[in-house]
Amino acid sequence: MSAKDAARYYGLTFDRKGWAVCPFHQDKHPSMSFRGGRFRCWACNASGDSID
Ligand SMILES: [Zn+2]
Repeated sequence: MSAKDAARYYGLTFDRKGWAVCPFHQDKHPSMSFRGGRFRCWACNASGDSID
């Protein structure tokens, strides 16, 4: 399972560019990007993979 699949499983939604609203801070606009099976929030610096 990729990080993106895991995020989708937990109810995150993605915009057209594949960015998601971050569940780790009060995010109003998608700040979280997914690449290479890992996620990274550019607003609160959260990062990890589907296991995290
Ligand atoms: Zn965040």
